[in-house]
Amino acid sequence: MATDPARLTADLVRCPSVTPEEGGALALLESLLSGAGFRCVRVDRGGVANLLARWGEKGAVRSFGFNGHTDVVPVGDEDAWSVPPFAAEERDGVLYGRGATDMKSGVAAFAAAAVDFVQETPPGDGAILLAITGDEEGPAVDGTAALLDWMAAEGEAMSVCLVGEPTSRERLGDTVKIGRRGSLNAVFTVTGVQGHAAYPHRAKNPLPAMARLMDRLASAELDNGTEHFDPSTLAVVTIDTGNPATNVIPAACRATVNVRFNDRHTGESLSAWLRSEAAAVAETFGVGIDLRISVSGEAFLTPPGPFSDLVARAVEAETGVTPELSTSGGTSDARFVKDHCPVVEFGLVGKSMHQVDEHVPLPHIHSLKAIYARILRDFFA
Ligand SMILES: [Zn+2]
Repeated sequence: MATDPARLTADLVRCPSVTPEEGGALALLESLLSGAGFRCVRVDRGGVANLLARWGEKGAVRSFGFNGHTDVVPVGDEDAWSVPPFAAEERDGVLYGRGATDMKSGVAAFAAAAVDFVQETPPGDGAILLAITGDEEGPAVDGTAALLDWMAAEGEAMSVCLVGEPTSRERLGDTVKIGRRGSLNAVFTVTGVQGHAAYPHRAKNPLPAMARLMDRLASAELDNGTEHFDPSTLAVVTIDTGNPATNVIPAACRATVNVRFNDRHTGESLSAWLRSEAAAVAETFGVGIDLRISVSGEAFLTPPGPFSDLVARAVEAETGVTPELSTSGGTSDARFVKDHCPVVEFGLVGKSMHQVDEHVPLPHIHSLKAIYARILRDFFA
């Protein structure tokens, strides 16, 4: 009997798996997959639960990987929801609940497709691996990265990997992601000397220096885009002094910028640029500028080729939509997978993700399973 991906999605939504809680979600998948002949191993690390399931032999010549997450973001203001966020209520063919699009439906669709595929047309010499994490929405340090570390140590490999994140923009099938921009956060602290606003010559005001620095950064043109990427962007996201007084020049000021960058840059090259900008302003204004940088992910690209073609053809065959190969949006766990094998991302329309009343039309879950099933058939054909 075919595995119903909509029912599986609803069962997963009922597991309250807000990062890093497992919530019963991986246990549910483990019982489904082991029942279908998958060898399941829990790869838990640092308080995060992860599941690796493999059908077929370790080290198979052709191995297809799926990656996804069962953790979800918090519900926020529960009173603002028109349904209980973990009840998986269905109304007029639409399933509501936290994780309905991001991405319990994606996990359910690829798990259901994989289970049916190995039961109906088992790939003789092939393997299917499902690497499912309980922390993609949180720090993601012990999530997919832990799974991949463990897999490398154990000789578990994937020839290619499909991440089932919601990538579609307006219509199911309109967008396949073949890369992602990198992301970097930088926190600047400008330190001067506090003083009376009436005697500014006795103080050293950090604010004009900060204003100059933020203006320089925000108005810099990082690049004009590259073949597969939009231009890199820098956003000043906060400037704070916390100064409640009108007659005091504060001693320090802090600001944070977020940079989304394409493959013209690396975290390192941008860090060097930010440091030199800070140093130039510090010298001009005679203030101290401290800089802390964290790189959440480097830009990467799986160049269009056989794998992205296979995925795009399957999407078009099932939906009638020709997908755009895109690198837009935020980061995802594909940033870890890309170090191991070619990785492409495809999934549902993500409009309601992370929102109140997150929802998914049930027919979309069935279509997504059909697309994943076709991808498996074509890959092993
Ligand atoms: Zn997600």
